[in-house]
Amino acid sequence: MKYVAAAAALALGISGAAIAQDKDWRFGDGGTPERWSALNTAYAACDLGKMQSPIDLTDPDAVGVVGLSTNYGEARGKLSVGLEKVQIDFDPGQNKGMVSGNTAFGLIQVHFHTPAEHAFDGVRYPLVAHFVHATNDGELGVLGVMFTEGRENPALSALLQAYDQGYGTPLTVDIDEMVPETVEVWRYMGSLTTPPCSEGVNWHVANVPVQASAEQIAKLRAALGPSARSLQDRNLRLLVAPQ
Ligand SMILES: [Zn+2]
Repeated sequence: MKYVAAAAALALGISGAAIAQDKDWRFGDGGTPERWSALNTAYAACDLGKMQSPIDLTDPDAVGVVGLSTNYGEARGKLSVGLEKVQIDFDPGQNKGMVSGNTAFGLIQVHFHTPAEHAFDGVRYPLVAHFVHATNDGELGVLGVMFTEGRENPALSALLQAYDQGYGTPLTVDIDEMVPETVEVWRYMGSLTTPPCSEGVNWHVANVPVQASAEQIAKLRAALGPSARSLQDRNLRLLVAPQ
């Protein structure tokens, strides 16, 4: 297992030392569903939690307009890559973020999964971007945007160019290129989709995808591998669909 991880690290062009500290779990652990709590007791919520993510977005409890506005535009950051991870950590102090209802969330990072994690009535898009935010009090809010195959995406071009140069590469992306012009979202309370699977995450999933070229999607798939957690039980959670 360790050898496989090291080989993958070499293929990604990053050092084994960086990978060894990166994480002690994989998306495929235990098959489907994953059994991350068996690897580390700190991951108990992954298997015991009743508000886990991702979920299948279908059969909503309510249909309504969730007031969501974003303030993104061009943003500076640094590329962070690891096993099953491609991420941009945004430089602090840029005042980028989203307002959901009356709650303001500041943008921290964006990372990707292949295929997408949330499904629409059982169907997953080939790629998703998760924009991770937090309030001043540390409450987490994520906006998920799916990608469908189509035109080349300029923001992903900048990302993939930085990826070729490796870990820590500074880059500027126009985040609006990765977000639909009109953002209408599915909304529910869930969790981080990776260990420690902490709950209390305000999930927003845009109901329409943006485009990326087949080549861009393939390159991210090659970098990430299968990196979507299995769908979790919705249990007794309120799910609001856009109108
Ligand atoms: Zn994610």
